[in-house]
Amino acid sequence: MSQEICPLCSEPAGPFYEITRKTGGFRSFSHCPSCSFVFQDRLPEEEEERERYELHRNNPEDKGYINWLESFVKSAVLPWYESGQILDYGSGPRPVLTELLSARGYSVSSYDPYFAPSWPEEGPFSLILLCEVLEHINDPVSDFRRLYDAADEGAVLSVMTQFLPSNSRDDFKGWWYKEDPTHIRFFTPLSLKILGEKSGWELISENKKSLAVFRKE
Ligand SMILES: [Zn+2]
Repeated sequence: MSQEICPLCSEPAGPFYEITRKTGGFRSFSHCPSCSFVFQDRLPEEEEERERYELHRNNPEDKGYINWLESFVKSAVLPWYESGQILDYGSGPRPVLTELLSARGYSVSSYDPYFAPSWPEEGPFSLILLCEVLEHINDPVSDFRRLYDAADEGAVLSVMTQFLPSNSRDDFKGWWYKEDPTHIRFFTPLSLKILGEKSGWELISENKKSLAVFRKE
């Protein structure tokens, strides 16, 4: 097996875990000992990815989903928002978070490479939200740099993604979050800190589980 280079810190990474499906699907993951990042080696085809996103749960009639989004707003938006334009980055097939925040009177723009691909004219942004998005992004350093350029001085970047349970293969094996074939990037607080350092964002808060908050330095 060829050695992979960590897409986050550019150090050598080693083989970590493989999944072979009876139906023919194969996925392999590498682990970077320098920054503890885990990443899928081969990326999903664009078509496969789009189809899977269309199945993603984001129906505004789904009460459970709305409750979950409300809790995201409570922890990832309200404590960090003062004023200015918000960007919902990776807003998905139906921008439910954008709609929910707009209904509350916030000025929100959305962007999604598949479903809202023109970059919003509003901005610079004072708060950028990645709600269950970072785990899908092929080159997170490049996206974070792009967001840095689109952000106001002192802007906040609020990210929700499930953190790796540990560095152990056994824990990864039993981890539900990797089962979605479009989830290809998995972080720890250390890898999030390094992602920030590579792109100009300072990690200012994380809850050891699923929420990380960065500020533009
Ligand atoms: Zn690394």
